[in-house]
Amino acid sequence: MQGYIININSVRDEDLIVTILSEDYLYTTYRFYGTRHSIINIGFKIDFELERNFKSNIPRLKDVLHIGFSWILDREKLYCWQRYIKLFYPHLKDVDNIDRFYIELLDDLAHKMIKQNPKRAIIENYILLCQYEGRLHTEYECLLCDQPITKDISVVRSFLPTHSSCSYSRAFDLQNIKELFEEKTLVKFSDDEVEYLWNILLQGL
Ligand SMILES: [Zn+2]
Repeated sequence: MQGYIININSVRDEDLIVTILSEDYLYTTYRFYGTRHSIINIGFKIDFELERNFKSNIPRLKDVLHIGFSWILDREKLYCWQRYIKLFYPHLKDVDNIDRFYIELLDDLAHKMIKQNPKRAIIENYILLCQYEGRLHTEYECLLCDQPITKDISVVRSFLPTHSSCSYSRAFDLQNIKELFEEKTLVKFSDDEVEYLWNILLQGL
């Protein structure tokens, strides 16, 4: 099987509980400490096997093979990638059966990050996630006052639209936000604006 490591917790010295997002399931697995084991980390894509044991309901993670990305040594890309992947754990942890969409979304992002700026690629990817989950608000009505937004628009957590005057937050050009939501592109956004959106995204999926 293949999947992405979205969470790691240490237990009993150096054993680990590793949560893996696979094509159709979120696996919680146990990895015993072993010096010969390959290093694993949040965000890594791995090929793996599970060994089930009657004494424990958590399967053992074994035969782990790291499937590297060509940009894995780019610190900025890896850092942004890991920050994003970590957010999937609280978002999906109570869901057992996972739609194939999620692993495909991350596969697509890993590929786009070869050439694209990581924060831009991730925010555009996140918009696809919101759309898939039916929570991308393209009616452009303010979350706080329910009135239509006709010019200065702000976005708050989960990229929910508000009037800038209602949320007292940074104003964006409505047309640019429409392009982001509908065309999934950030081309018209400055690096500073991207940084602002990135920090909103980090508040949680
Ligand atoms: Zn408003």
